[in-house]
Amino acid sequence: MMSSIIPIFIPHLGCPHDCVFCNQKKIAGKTSAPDGETVAHTISEALDKLSGEVPEVAFYGGSFTAIERTLMIEYLEATKPFLDTGKISGLRLSTRPDSIDGEVLSILKEYGVNTIELGAQSMDENVLKASGRGHTAENVRCASRLIKEEGFSLILQMMTHLPQSDKEKDIYTAKEIAKLSPDGVRVYPTVVVRDTYLEEMTKEGRYIPCTPEEAADRGGEILAVFRNSGIPVIRFGLNPTDDLSAGEAVSGAYHPALGEMAMSAYYLSLCEKEIEKTENSGDAIEIRVHPRRISVMSGQKKRNKDILSEKYGFCKVVILGDSDIPEDKVSVRIYKKA
Ligand code: SF4
Repeated sequence: MMSSIIPIFIPHLGCPHDCVFCNQKKIAGKTSAPDGETVAHTISEALDKLSGEVPEVAFYGGSFTAIERTLMIEYLEATKPFLDTGKISGLRLSTRPDSIDGEVLSILKEYGVNTIELGAQSMDENVLKASGRGHTAENVRCASRLIKEEGFSLILQMMTHLPQSDKEKDIYTAKEIAKLSPDGVRVYPTVVVRDTYLEEMTKEGRYIPCTPEEAADRGGEILAVFRNSGIPVIRFGLNPTDDLSAGEAVSGAYHPALGEMAMSAYYLSLCEKEIEKTENSGDAIEIRVHPRRISVMSGQKKRNKDILSEKYGFCKVVILGDSDIPEDKVSVRIYKKA
């Protein structure tokens, strides 16, 4: 089980890159990076509220190993006393694949970092280029290997529906990422955020955003790739925030229940595979799933039930909970109505 997390937000100040989906250039100047003292203060305050829990500290929001070296070490120095006294259990951070090398990894190890999250985003060179990422798929492979060789936990992040991408390329990306054996993945279908190049590209018709439903359907296939490889998906879809909900998310895959929608798409595909195995045709279907999976099997607003009725002509779709069925399995029985 994941321990609780004290998040420290490091704004993307001074990032020299131009990822089309990122609004860091527009927010630069409005947000300032904390100093080491502020980081230590934030951790102390959070610990007071956690009463006895031993959390991890996570540096989010920036490319941690790409920030200016003295500031990066200032942050690590600020967390060290908490690690040394056992008040926090570890440190995690996110960064870019081309900002990882042996030297920076040895600094991170010295300061007790245990988990590194890499923004891979895509493993297709054209998609990386069209998205302005400024790194290659080979950078992702090399950085991942180094991180694992040095004994860190590795989390890889990927995006779907980026410019120049399609279903095939997104699934290829998931498969290539699975080959790197990360300890977990985060999957972020693309959201068009206000004040980004992607917003301009959308207005000019050079990019067509996906809908949340399209993102969830493709997400179901991506989840299958990782589940079949035994790799946990620790997040699907952007965390809803007040700003995004208030209009910063202009279009694309922004929906507070996106993760659940993708899970429903995944369960629909499991169900369809079971239907294809049966030779019975009939008027009705009884689907058995673990009781905790009834709602994802049914889908938002019973979407899966409607799809099954329409596609296979069932006049009745019944979903039953059965605790003998493992959580990632579906069992079906098709019968003629009496
Ligand atoms: S690397 Fe890309 S996503 Fe990250 S801060 Fe820079 S421009 Fe934004």
